[in-house]
Amino acid sequence: MKERQASLDHFRVAAALLVAAIHTSPLASFWAEGDFWLTRVLARLAVPFFFMVSGYFLAKSQWKSLPRFLKKTALLYGISILLYLPLNLYANNVAPGEWVRAVLLDGTFYHLWYFPAVLLGALVAFGLSRLRLRASLPLAGLLYLVGLGGDSYYGLVSALPWAKAMYDGLFHVVSYTRNGLFFAPLFLLLGAAGLRWRPRFSLAGLLLSLAAMSGEAFWLRSLGAQRHDSMYLFLPVCSVFLFSLLLSRNQGQDRAARTFSMLFYVLHPWCIVLVRGGAKLLGLEGLFVENSLGHFLAVAALSGAVSALPLLLQRGKPSQTGRAWRELDLAALHHNAAALQRRLGPRCRLMAVVKADAYGHGAVPVAKALQREKVRAFAVATLEEGVALRKRGIRGTILILGYTAPFQSGALARWRLTQAVVEEDYARRLSAQGKRVRVHLAADTGMHRLGIPAEDLEAFRRVYQLPHLKIEGVFSHLCAADSAAPEDAAFTQHQAEAFRRLCRRLEEAGCPAGQTHLLASYGIFSLPTGEYAFARAGIALYGVGSGSGCPQPPVELWPVLSLRARVAAVHSLAPGETAGYGRAFRAERPTRLAVVAIGYADGLPRDLAQRGGQVLLHGRHAPIVGRLCMDQLLVDVTDLDEVRGGNIATLIGRDGASLITAEELAGQCGTITNELLSRLGRRLGLCLLE
Ligand SMILES: *Cc1c(COP(=O)(O)O)cnc(C)c1O
Repeated sequence: MKERQASLDHFRVAAALLVAAIHTSPLASFWAEGDFWLTRVLARLAVPFFFMVSGYFLAKSQWKSLPRFLKKTALLYGISILLYLPLNLYANNVAPGEWVRAVLLDGTFYHLWYFPAVLLGALVAFGLSRLRLRASLPLAGLLYLVGLGGDSYYGLVSALPWAKAMYDGLFHVVSYTRNGLFFAPLFLLLGAAGLRWRPRFSLAGLLLSLAAMSGEAFWLRSLGAQRHDSMYLFLPVCSVFLFSLLLSRNQGQDRAARTFSMLFYVLHPWCIVLVRGGAKLLGLEGLFVENSLGHFLAVAALSGAVSALPLLLQRGKPSQTGRAWRELDLAALHHNAAALQRRLGPRCRLMAVVKADAYGHGAVPVAKALQREKVRAFAVATLEEGVALRKRGIRGTILILGYTAPFQSGALARWRLTQAVVEEDYARRLSAQGKRVRVHLAADTGMHRLGIPAEDLEAFRRVYQLPHLKIEGVFSHLCAADSAAPEDAAFTQHQAEAFRRLCRRLEEAGCPAGQTHLLASYGIFSLPTGEYAFARAGIALYGVGSGSGCPQPPVELWPVLSLRARVAAVHSLAPGETAGYGRAFRAERPTRLAVVAIGYADGLPRDLAQRGGQVLLHGRHAPIVGRLCMDQLLVDVTDLDEVRGGNIATLIGRDGASLITAEELAGQCGTITNELLSRLGRRLGLCLLE
């Protein structure tokens, strides 16, 4: 089986090169027909491909990432407008009336039409997608047909007087029909459909439809029918087969390729100007301007060099996906945060619990992603965790839920961290340091872990008298909210009542409780949330339940983390041969063993094989065998298609149609997901899927 790679991202680079070809006509000096085919037929696949990728990822997030996508694209467009402003000024084509139209519809420079098209197109496609695919695709197809009549079929269609009148009216408003209304929605929705056939079928379809599109293009050219030559009847067909072909090989992402292709696309017209200017200056116009191939190569080389600059800065940094890594689905994280916040209602705010490196997900990227989604309160377990977040720009409340030695009060104050007060004596020692420290008082309502006994109002009052504590909140923690057993449910009710009574009595005693909070994930699921200022969500935020014994969340949550590792080597064993420490695996039949580069030092239990652990390889389950090593484990791949070094094994997450959930793995390990995930070692790479 061919190794899968980030085909979608890699093809972006090819697509950007094709766009540069459109704008430089590489073969024009030698072979007009060839150049027409390259730039007006083949290269016309490039931009639809970009639209399709966007549609594919938008649909993957169920369009929840649309606002972020629009914001990012608009920002990029804004920067591009500024970048090309000097050229607009030089060409003196910035009449104010025209300018508004250019910004909103046509783009302010010839290649920048892409941005308004994808912005408007995404909105139209989103609107259509609400109609279910069956209705949305035909409607988008209809819009495309209208666009076609104003593009390469204009010469034919405009023979009809009413059609000519219609299009000419349209062209008073927009310069082309290749835009966000008639062009982009169809490709965005085709990408969203994510059609995927077997590679051979896709390839055959691609070749046939490309041949048909070539015939169509040359025919239209011979008729002189084209007003513009971006749209063909066969272009969507071709694009769907191309996308299917790439999708069937696609795994993971290549951010470098993404950044490179985006820069290349935005910058190449500037490079065209620079190549022309430079060639003139050096007297090399014959080679680099008049010779079309020389021109193309010079532009591609210059654009490539400029676009590669950011990558150069990354050089030497180890890849995150070289050995074993965690993959975070940020769209799922956003979805979970929004779903939980909806459940909490307008008054109660989500406090994101990102202790233990965000349950193994990486505290900084998780907190940053949540901060972008307007989460303004975070909880950690230690001082160091809090400081690390502040240093990386996390604002708002950061509450330290665990113990911090009072002599560190200077650091608490300096980094504006909020400390949990874990008992009365602790409060006294903390205040005695003489630094003004923000605190939340922990109340013990029955867990008997941390906190001042909730019924001891006098103890609370004494703490309120202490001079240096800035008491901003009071909280407690439930210890059996994840259990549906009647006695546990009664205990939870009892805890909630004790907390409520404490808050009331504090207010009556003139000790303002400030921001109160009681509920963690399972409390959010089972108790009313309205009366508290915050709810502290940990495991729910990461989209998994604690374990199989726990109640099902009443809100839909999406798992955020996948755990993957590379195959390091593959061995063939004869019956009777053994493998690994203690010779714990013995081959009963001719066996192929894959050595996967992840072990117990990465957070997996040493006896995972004996507990029934599996991995996914090429979309299928394969059993882990023998004893786990510190840095490797063994997988029996005898029953799988050919597995080779470099292949990717999945320990948590999806591979093709197969899935291993964190709950499943935690169950096998005899623990809950909270423990399994928070143990994931920091030497694992971290790869963010946006
Ligand atoms: C860890 C922790 C949480 C988060 O619990 P989840 O069940 O993961 O949501 C909330 N509050 C306190 C005090 C904690 O220690």
